[in-house]
Amino acid sequence: MSVATDTGVKARVHPSPNHGERPEGVAVDMVVLHYTGMPSAEAALQRLCDPRSEVSAHYVVNEDGSILQCVPEARRAWHAGRSSWKGASDINSRSIGVEIVNPGHEHGYRPFPEAQIEAVIALVGDICTRHGIQLWMVLGHSDIAPARKEDPGELFPWDRLAEAGVGLYVTPFPIRTGLLMQEGDSGQPVEALQTMLALYGYELDITGDFDLKTRQVVAAFQRHFRPEKVDGVADQSTIETLNALLRKLPSLSS
Ligand SMILES: [Zn+2]
Repeated sequence: MSVATDTGVKARVHPSPNHGERPEGVAVDMVVLHYTGMPSAEAALQRLCDPRSEVSAHYVVNEDGSILQCVPEARRAWHAGRSSWKGASDINSRSIGVEIVNPGHEHGYRPFPEAQIEAVIALVGDICTRHGIQLWMVLGHSDIAPARKEDPGELFPWDRLAEAGVGLYVTPFPIRTGLLMQEGDSGQPVEALQTMLALYGYELDITGDFDLKTRQVVAAFQRHFRPEKVDGVADQSTIETLNALLRKLPSLSS
């Protein structure tokens, strides 16, 4: 007998014991995308289903495009860890976690195959439609944990997803020489940059000092939205791209 999945997209159930109750009254309003970061898909799946690991995700998308559901969407999967977005810190309670098979930066980071990306688009599109999740709430693990995480990384084609109506993205502004801000700088322009990043959702104190945390957040922003150069330096291209994204947020465009 086959067990039903939550998604309208073709998937099969591969249960993980690693989940808990979602708190009452908290709506699912985010999707968090990860890469598995393990040498093989088998090793990743084993870890996500091992009670000793205490990690899981709702879905795993294989490189061939096949999809496994490990945790029912109604349950709280354990994928985000210590993280934060738009002032909220219990991300697991309000999100769906999707693990995308890729060895990651530690084990041979490589491009995501076409079949896998098509499957991610179909799955995440379906999740967003069913839960009424906003475009800008489709995020990477690195967005919500910039000091700890790099996944799904700069090779992940967020532009392809956005073309298919999944997630928010604007064409990055071209990289040119010119003014930039970097670690060690301080002053009003740094304060303005920190304010913009925090407004978009990143957890960052507005101090006016371009510190390590600011560099990590700028790098996380670049990894998602300006992947050509991920260096934690706020150049004009980074700032203009951030500005263009902010203008797409409804609270700021009206
Ligand atoms: Zn992750």
